Amino acid sequence: MELDMKGDAREGLLTIDLQALGDNYCDLRARLGADSRCGAVVKADAYGLGAARVAPVLYGLGCRDFFVATEGEGQRLRELIGTDARIVVLTGVRPGFEMECAHSALVPTLFTLAQVRAWVAACERAAVAAPCAVKVDSGMTRLGMTAEEFDQLLADRALLQAANIEILLSHLACADEPAHPQNAAQLRDFRRAGERLRAECPKVELSLANSSGIFLGPEYHFDIARPGSALYGINPSPGAPNPMRPVVELSLPVIQKRHVSDERFVGYGATQAVSPGSWLAVARGGYADGILRAQGGRGCGWACGRRLPIVGRVSMDSTVFDISALSDAERESLASIQVLNAELTVDEVGGYANTIGYEILTSLGHRYFRRYLEN
Ligand SMILES: *Cc1c(COP(=O)(O)O)cnc(C)c1O
Repeated sequence: MELDMKGDAREGLLTIDLQALGDNYCDLRARLGADSRCGAVVKADAYGLGAARVAPVLYGLGCRDFFVATEGEGQRLRELIGTDARIVVLTGVRPGFEMECAHSALVPTLFTLAQVRAWVAACERAAVAAPCAVKVDSGMTRLGMTAEEFDQLLADRALLQAANIEILLSHLACADEPAHPQNAAQLRDFRRAGERLRAECPKVELSLANSSGIFLGPEYHFDIARPGSALYGINPSPGAPNPMRPVVELSLPVIQKRHVSDERFVGYGATQAVSPGSWLAVARGGYADGILRAQGGRGCGWACGRRLPIVGRVSMDSTVFDISALSDAERESLASIQVLNAELTVDEVGGYANTIGYEILTSLGHRYFRRYLEN
């Protein structure tokens, strides 16, 4: 096996299926009406899967609205996709960096009135008319202008005209719980904010839905949808079958197999007993690689069509699996154990680690050999 600066298959093999990713994008886009475009959220290095490989695939499929978290992510993305694509920075622009943002053709999301004023002042000083996005808080109470600030913005016609607002955004807090009453309340407030802004700036586009928001119904779609997680195979409709294709597979090499002949305790803290007669496999890959420690004694791996329990605590570089359920022949030929695949999904693994599939993906380590499948 060839050594690679980007990782070594002997440390584990992370397979990222770009065809499945592209299919997921097309699936989501097909769920939108003719008046809505499908954007793509590629923040945090495309949820850990590699924006440098992911973004060009989405661009190739016609995506022209990309969303990142920071200016740095936006600048790196700018080099990867065509200049006709819009890149929106979701967490705004640091004071003093407005023109850097504008010169990289990044669209900052402004979420306070002071930011809008600073943006307009910087654009006027530089005599450029660079577009921005504005975010209103429709109920999540995270980023976004308060109702009072939004009123003040609407009341300041000169500021509004100078700001060159291209998009009005808001974010749903409970989109993955379709029955949650906050969805309808946020929809109502966002729609009203959109109507009021459009009365002054008719060309402003509206964007509300994340992945799960797309599944809440057409009234949530507006002009641009912003799916992230569903592109990467996370179930946007928890509790119902996952309509998305799985995108990642992660396989850890087995580096030791051992037969247990007396009662023993496995791993740090001697937290879990194994009975005599058990077979264990030690795989390379631990919490430093994103096998979250919270999975210890709860999670599982996958081999020969079976779930194999994780025994004891997950270590930094290794994880122990109980492989007693395998036949002699299966055990002897066992060379690797998968910890993510089409059956053992990121959502299931997130559950074992008391977290969500998103954190499983963004925690994926950097020691693996990353293999990208295309067509
Ligand atoms: C991360 C993010 C998204 C994407 O959400 P998913 O649930 O991953 O689809 C959309 N909008 C904003 C503002 C975000 O921060």
